[in-house]
Amino acid sequence: MQIFFFSTMPFEEPLLKTKRPPNTNFNFFTDRLTLGKAEEIASIDVASVFINDDCGKTVLEVLAAKGLKLVLTRSAGFDHIDLQACKALGISVARVPEYSPYSIAEHSVLLLLALNRRLPLALKNQDNRDFRVDNLMGFDLHSKSVGIVGAGTIGCKFLAIMKGFGCRLFYYDIQPSEEAGKMGAAPLALNDLLAQCDIVSLHCPLNEHTKYMLNDETLNLMKKGSILINTARGGLVDTQALLEVLNLDKGLSLYGADVYEKEKGLFFFNHSELGFNDSLLKQLLEHTKVLITCHQAFLTQEAVHNIVDTTLANLSAFIDGKPGPGTLLNEIKSPLRL
Ligand code: NAD
Repeated sequence: MQIFFFSTMPFEEPLLKTKRPPNTNFNFFTDRLTLGKAEEIASIDVASVFINDDCGKTVLEVLAAKGLKLVLTRSAGFDHIDLQACKALGISVARVPEYSPYSIAEHSVLLLLALNRRLPLALKNQDNRDFRVDNLMGFDLHSKSVGIVGAGTIGCKFLAIMKGFGCRLFYYDIQPSEEAGKMGAAPLALNDLLAQCDIVSLHCPLNEHTKYMLNDETLNLMKKGSILINTARGGLVDTQALLEVLNLDKGLSLYGADVYEKEKGLFFFNHSELGFNDSLLKQLLEHTKVLITCHQAFLTQEAVHNIVDTTLANLSAFIDGKPGPGTLLNEIKSPLRL
């Protein structure tokens, strides 16, 4: 059975290799899965992908013609996979539903604290041996209003941490959250949450309903001096509108994100020699009110081990003809025992 791992990072390969099921052949690529890459492959049974791989209809059709039966994404989010196309082509899909919600929630808090206390500017000043603190004023998190959009696994872990800071908690979700309620978080409509909260953190999936959820209109509702954190998906925020609102200096004052709407092909690669041609990202990186990390929120030892274990459990279950722990689409018609 030919398994191809795309977008692999140096720390993944040795971990994956130690638990290879019998009669499987592992092929590793640090490159992204693209149409060009798909066309190079002679025969494939399983594609293991990450968030910036192309799992759109055209690529899936090319790989299906070469034998693809399973897509294993090493992520929780699956907005990069065309599930409809998979179903039509008889391709099963599995993900890692939960590998460490703490890793993402803690990274959201990191962005919040660093931005609020102007850490990037403080470090830059220190580099210039400028030890003044005049422009580093933040605010106490204690008693501030914190709102999350998406009160699922990660959102609730973030709320639990913010409860520890003594914040007042709110959430917006398309369904009531018992867990958020137990922590004392009150549900609010999205517009009210944006207008009332000092801190807003995004934790919902990217789909056709949430694309550009934070746009020119909704960003302009945000409270004066507020901070927006996004560790969910770049496409939730209209970056152009965000930059315009930040430059107005009226409402939203700071933006921290681990994701960017056009991060595919940029994040996870070294552009230090050749540079890159993306003026929006350049503006974000250079903006004094913005702090960007390049999709590293998931990167803790615990999360990486859980990603590997669940991915291989999904693979073994598929080989046995059963649904795995992260099965999204089960198109297996009969056991594939080798
Ligand atoms: P989850 O499924 O447990 O929670 C998502 C929540 O969002 C659910 O409560 C759901 O009801 C809610 N939701 C769905 N549509 C909504 C809408 N239109 N408006 C408001 N709420 C809505 O998912 P999770 O594990 O908490 O992950 C959340 C997101 O975090 C993922 O979808 C993924 O995009 C992102 N993520 C990012 C990283 C990273 O490294 N930066 C890692 C893992 C996950």
